[in-house]
Amino acid sequence: MTQVVRQGVCILGATGSIGQSTLDVLRRHPERWSVASLGANQDVERMLAACLEFRPPVVAMADEQAAARLATALKAAGLATEVLSGEEGMQTIAADAASAVVVAAIVGAAGLCSSLAAVRAGKRVLLANKEALVMSGDLFMAEVAAHGATLIPLDSEHNALFQCLPHVSANASRAAMGVESLILTASGGPFLEWSAERLLAVTPEQACAHPNWSMGKKISVDSASLMNKGLEVIEAFWLFGMPLERIKVVVHPQSIVHSMVAYADGSVLAQLGLPDMRTPIAHALAWPERVQSGVAALDLTQMNHLSFVPPDTQRFPCLRLAYDALRQGGLAPAVLNAANEVAVDAFLQRRLGFTQIPALIEAVLNRVTAEKAPVLDQALDDVFAVDRQGRALANEWVQHHGKVS
Ligand code: NAD
Ligand code: MG
Repeated sequence: MTQVVRQGVCILGATGSIGQSTLDVLRRHPERWSVASLGANQDVERMLAACLEFRPPVVAMADEQAAARLATALKAAGLATEVLSGEEGMQTIAADAASAVVVAAIVGAAGLCSSLAAVRAGKRVLLANKEALVMSGDLFMAEVAAHGATLIPLDSEHNALFQCLPHVSANASRAAMGVESLILTASGGPFLEWSAERLLAVTPEQACAHPNWSMGKKISVDSASLMNKGLEVIEAFWLFGMPLERIKVVVHPQSIVHSMVAYADGSVLAQLGLPDMRTPIAHALAWPERVQSGVAALDLTQMNHLSFVPPDTQRFPCLRLAYDALRQGGLAPAVLNAANEVAVDAFLQRRLGFTQIPALIEAVLNRVTAEKAPVLDQALDDVFAVDRQGRALANEWVQHHGKVS
């Protein structure tokens, strides 16, 4: 047997859905991985529990007060864990030499800088934070190449594509290797069969109750509006360097086939498994090896029906908006992301109707692109400037058109 070198793992977003699933995989393999550091926003209770179990030498809380409370609680528990705080603390643990692997699982734009810090430190980066790629894909991928980082997607569709694609060196073209198209599967979310009329009255509780996956609130709403698939199309574009017209979406309500790659000879390779993020997490941690994830074996005889239908962008315009933003290029996807984050937040606070989410995003995209030509050469400052502009316009839109509570 070959000797396994124990690697340190940093989890950014440790208290979230992906973070907790990652800890569950690590729990099964103490001989392979140790927890080098953990980062989160303000959930002191979960962070304390993780510290007591995994004993990371250093942790970071974005929220200063939460950091102070955690430090007190750790001391009282007799642990000497160092507690950092703020965005700076997050970037410090992301780049810290004690970890070889960084799981980037903070939700939204808040995760961009720490994900980039891990990339710039040349880590093996397991990326769940799709918003980072949507906002700054061009720059992000250039930094991956410049710093020799290894980027492995955790998003189940992209992890499936990663498993089904031929592995090529940085400059080689996948099209030259006979890849015809990438086919992303979408569950369709909880409202797949709902009429346009019924969608008008959707509540946050209904939107967050995903039929197959258990996830954080933001991505659950994104899945219900199909914006999640839109963000994933953009994510696939940057990760795999495929032209947009070769990235397709098919609705597969059972979430067993996680995505597919179609080849020139007519072959279609698919990755299958139960809808449980511990599979892609274990895959990305151990790649190119395979380890136990805790996920049950797939019994195909128990699946009486696997179906595939085209997405309906009439009832779910967010998917079309994402394709449009990517086609437009430059900073348009960053505007799309900013507007969506504000829209989802407002929807969760009952200040915006579900069907107003795409209306808001479209209005903000039109406003920003009418005002200024898209910048092609992305710099991080430009990305954040347009992120702020998108958010300001989106908040204005909520004030004028949102629901009166
Ligand atoms: P979640 O809401 O359950 O967890 C979010 C995590 O981010 C929490 O630990 C929170 O403390 C942390 N966080 C939030 N703001 C922060 C800040 N400013 N600084 C530091 N930490 C902060 O979300 P999730 O479902 O785990 O999703 C995380 C990311 O992974 C998202 O980008 C999502 O799109 C992606 N993703 C999730 C799933 C899934 O199954 N949950 C699947 C694919 C991709
Ligand atoms: Mg996904």
